[in-house]
Amino acid sequence: MTRLVLIGAPGAGKGTQGELLAQRWGLSHIATGDLLRAEVQAGSGLGQEVGGYLDTGTLVPDQVLLDLVLPLVHRAATGAGYLLDGFPRSVDQARRLDELAGAEAAVQRVLFLDVPRPELVARLLHRAAEQDRSDDTEEVIVRRLRVFDELTAPLIGYYRDAGLLSIIDASGSVQQVLAATLAAL
Ligand code: AMP
Repeated sequence: MTRLVLIGAPGAGKGTQGELLAQRWGLSHIATGDLLRAEVQAGSGLGQEVGGYLDTGTLVPDQVLLDLVLPLVHRAATGAGYLLDGFPRSVDQARRLDELAGAEAAVQRVLFLDVPRPELVARLLHRAAEQDRSDDTEEVIVRRLRVFDELTAPLIGYYRDAGLLSIIDASGSVQQVLAATLAAL
């Protein structure tokens, strides 16, 4: 499996597990939140366009994401493969990805990192204390979890119906979750 998608609520550990999995197999780790934050920090045109969405915890428009991600997906698919982290984030985005990726770049497996809600909130508040992310305030955390429930969680059914989904119990330590993920693959 070299073309993977990680799904999880904010705080589920997508970034950490994504990095470990991508390193292990030499996959391109395409983390859309990181890419967008880098644009904001660089003060690029794209960064100025998307900064407000990130600050408020709302989704950046689909076309912006598709323009950003598709070239990376196609390039990675001709190499070692990709691990998508943070995209797709809605059924609409997943449909567009299916349409535009083509057979050679199509998603092969989707891992849903499942973490109970109270633990997610605790992890996010802990991260807020450690990192300086503009979207880790309590108000924005609540909004991001709502966006996940309304727009991203339906992806679980979408990929289950497609026969691509594995659900990982991601409530343990980093090493436990990594082991569970590797076992699922
Ligand atoms: P993350 O680091 O994955 O939690 O993403 C941080 C923020 O980046 C999100 O709250 C959104 O504002 C934006 N973002 C990241 N990925 C996407 C996506 N696939 N679609 C829309 N917005 C996104």
